[in-house]
Amino acid sequence: MFHELEMPGRAPCDSSPGYVRYVVREPYFREYLIRLKSAGLRGLSVGEALAGTDSSMPGVVITFDDGCETDYLAAAPAIQAVGFRGTFYVVSGFVGKPGYIGRGQLRSLNEAGFEIGSHSMSHPYLTELDPGRLKEEVSNSKDQLEQMIGRRVDHFSCPGGRWNRTVLEACREAQYASVATSQIGTNSPETACFRLRRVVVGRSLPAATLDAWSRGQSLFWPRARQVARDALKSWAGNRTYERLRSAVLNR
Ligand SMILES: [Zn+2]
Repeated sequence: MFHELEMPGRAPCDSSPGYVRYVVREPYFREYLIRLKSAGLRGLSVGEALAGTDSSMPGVVITFDDGCETDYLAAAPAIQAVGFRGTFYVVSGFVGKPGYIGRGQLRSLNEAGFEIGSHSMSHPYLTELDPGRLKEEVSNSKDQLEQMIGRRVDHFSCPGGRWNRTVLEACREAQYASVATSQIGTNSPETACFRLRRVVVGRSLPAATLDAWSRGQSLFWPRARQVARDALKSWAGNRTYERLRSAVLNR
């Protein structure tokens, strides 16, 4: 799971430390891809992975959340260069805003063989919404993106990694085929399509760690940290958690 990429002479969409720690430098991203390719992995989209057409070689799914313009400018060309595919989860309401992908770019991305998924309409924590707003965020974003690209949008990823059973049910009702969470881990044919696991790649990830992750190794401590964070979030509530997090990151 990636977010925005850093390109020379280009400011990220958000300069807060909590955001920038997930902004990966473009040359690092290119190197990560080369290493995944050298490890013998196939680079798939979410739809291709779920279809499971060729299980003779393990696969990796590169996903990007939010729909930043660097998806089109930097990520897609790098993914194409190694012969991979991938999935871009886009916030429909951000399309065309400064720093985010434009409508024409989104269409080109899809026409070039990349899969477009939804990442909601306005990027709220879905677990905090009333049923009406939740339905809007999940269904309207799908409709809007489908109109923009002229094709079906079948896959959803949860903003801020926040999800619960009500959120998953809303996605099912909106006719999505899968939901990606931010729960750390690898996926197998036994993984529920509505709780796909991912591994977030942050700005300072050592390449050797990525190599281990691509073999499904060294995920114990990231997972343990996530369990601790989730416990803190549910104890403190989302807002208090965010305040604590930015206080720690700004130090
Ligand atoms: Zn997001």
